[in-house]
Amino acid sequence: MAKYDVIIVGGGHNGLVTACYLAKGGLKTLVLERREVVGGGAELDHATGPFSTQIIADLNLRFELITPKVRVLALSDDGRSLCIYNNDTAATVKEIEKFSANDAKSYPEFVESFSRIGRVLAPLVSMTPPSIDEPAAADLWQLGKIGLAFRGLGKKDEYRLLRWGPMAVADLVAEWFETELLRATVAARGISGAFAGPWSAGTSLGLLWQAAMDGSAIGSSIYIKGGLAQALADAAKSAGAEIRTSAEVIRIEGSKVILRNGEELEARAVVSNADPRTTFLKLVDPIDLDPNFLLKMRNYRAPGIVAKVNLTLSGAPRFRGVDDPTKLTGRIHIGPEIDYLERAFDASKYGEFSREPYLDIVMPSPDAMSIQVQFAPYKLKEGDWNTRREEFADVVIDRLSAYAPNIKELITGRQIITPLDLENTYGLSGGHIHHGEQTLDQFFTFRPLIGWAQYRTPLNRLYLCGAGAHPGGGLTGIPGANAAREIARDFKARRI
Ligand SMILES: Cc1cc2nc3c(=O)[nH]c(=O)nc-3n(C[C@H](O)[C@H](O)[C@H](O)COP(=O)(O)OP(=O)(O)OC[C@H]3O[C@@H](n4cnc5c(N)ncnc54)[C@H](O)[C@@H]3O)c2cc1C
Repeated sequence: MAKYDVIIVGGGHNGLVTACYLAKGGLKTLVLERREVVGGGAELDHATGPFSTQIIADLNLRFELITPKVRVLALSDDGRSLCIYNNDTAATVKEIEKFSANDAKSYPEFVESFSRIGRVLAPLVSMTPPSIDEPAAADLWQLGKIGLAFRGLGKKDEYRLLRWGPMAVADLVAEWFETELLRATVAARGISGAFAGPWSAGTSLGLLWQAAMDGSAIGSSIYIKGGLAQALADAAKSAGAEIRTSAEVIRIEGSKVILRNGEELEARAVVSNADPRTTFLKLVDPIDLDPNFLLKMRNYRAPGIVAKVNLTLSGAPRFRGVDDPTKLTGRIHIGPEIDYLERAFDASKYGEFSREPYLDIVMPSPDAMSIQVQFAPYKLKEGDWNTRREEFADVVIDRLSAYAPNIKELITGRQIITPLDLENTYGLSGGHIHHGEQTLDQFFTFRPLIGWAQYRTPLNRLYLCGAGAHPGGGLTGIPGANAAREIARDFKARRI
C-alpha cells in the first residue's frame, strides 16, 4: 500500500503550486526538494511572469503583486533614455516624442493591438493543450470559443496574429517603429532567455505570449512583495502537504522514487517539477522509455544562455540621461539597437560570452542591483565557467559603467551565477532558465514533445508540472496549476 497519493519531485514554485491544489483536494502529498530551500529558480527572478491572480485567489496566497509605475527604462549610447510606463500610454507617448513623432503616433495602436490579441490568446495559457490524435469534446469546445473570439478581432488583428507568430521580432518592430532604441527595447521580450537573436525566426512569439499573460508585448516589471516560495510552502503545508528539503531523488521507478540517501518512497503518482531532460534522461531508466520518445527527448533543446550578476552598492548609481530616480523602479534595459542585440547573440553561437552583452536590470533597492545577462552560453569554447567567471563579471560591469559611470566605485560585493551554476545548484539541465527553449516547435501542443503536452508522460504514473510543460517558463504558477487539474482528473477517474 503506497504511503502517499502523490510524490512531487522538486519544490520549485510550480511543484509547490501543484502540491497546494492536490493537497487541498484531499490527496496525501509529499514534496521532495534536493536543495536545502524550496522555490527553485524563483529566488533568481527579478520580475514575475506575472504570477496568476487566479492561483493567488484559489490558494489564498499571502503575498502581493506590485506593479511599479515604470515597465522599462531603456538607455541609449548617446546618453538619452526612454521610459515605457505600465498602464500609461499617454506618458509613454510623451517619452517617445523625444525620439520620433512617427513612433509616438504608432505606439497607442501597437499597445491596443497587442492588448486585443492578448485577450484572445489568454485562455490558451491556462488550458491543457488538446491532444493532437484524440482531442476530447471539452478541448474542441474550448478551442471553438477561442476561434470565435479570434473572429471577433476583426480582419486587421486576425492577419496580424497569424503573421506575427513565425516572424523575426526585428522585422515586427521595424514595421511599427523607426527609433532603434524603441525597436530594441520591445524586441528584447522576444529573445529573453532564448538561444536566439532578434533576427531569428519565430522570436515574435515571445511578444504574443507576454500579451496573453498580461496584455502587453513588453516584458513585465511586476514584482512580488512578501516572499513567494514561503507563501506557497505555507499554503501547501496548511493544506496538508508534507515538504522535505535536502531530499534529492536519484531515480524514478514506476510510482517509486529513490533518494540519494538510499531511501525508497512510494505513491500512486509521481509528479516531476524537474525539467524534462533531467526527468527523462537522468531520473528515469532509459530502458523504461520507448526509443522513439527517448530520441525526441534527446533532441529537446535546452541550451542555457543566461547568467546573472548581482551587485551590492554603497549608494545609488547615477545613470546617464536619467534625472528622475522614480524612472529606475521598473526594469532597466541595456541593448540600445537591434544590431547590438544580434551581435550579443552572435558571440554565443561560437561558444563565447558577449563582450557587449544585453543587460536586463532591476534595482530592488537603491543599493542593490540584479542583472540578467545575455548572452552567456552554457558551453564555452575557450576555458570553462569555473576559470572565466570573474572575467565575465568584469565584462558586465565594464558595459554597465558606460551607462552608469560611477558604478565601479560603488560596488561593495558581487555574486556571479553562470549557466553552469544554474545546472549544478538549481538543477536546470543545460542551465536553461525556462526548462527548454520556447520556440514554436516546443510550444503549446508541442511542449515538451508532441503527443505529451497534457502533463502526462509515456510512463503511466509519472506526470510533469514544471516550466518544461505548457505554458512554459516564467514565474506564473500556471504549469503547476494545469498539471494539478489533470492529475486530479486521473485520480477521480481512477486511472491512477
Ligand atoms: C537566472 C534566472 C532568472 C530568471 N528571471 C526571471 C524573471 O525575472 N521573471 C520570470 O518570470 N521568470 C524568470 N526566470 C524563470 C523562472 O525562474 C522559471 O521559469 C521558474 O523558476 C520555473 O519554475 P519551476 O517550478 O517550473 O522550476 P524550478 O524553479 O527550476 O524548480 C524545480 C525544482 O526542482 C528541484 N529538483 C530538480 N531535480 C530534483 C531532484 N532530482 N530531486 C529533488 N528536487 C529536484 C530543483 O532544485 C528546483 O527547486 C528566471 C530563471 C532564472 C534561472
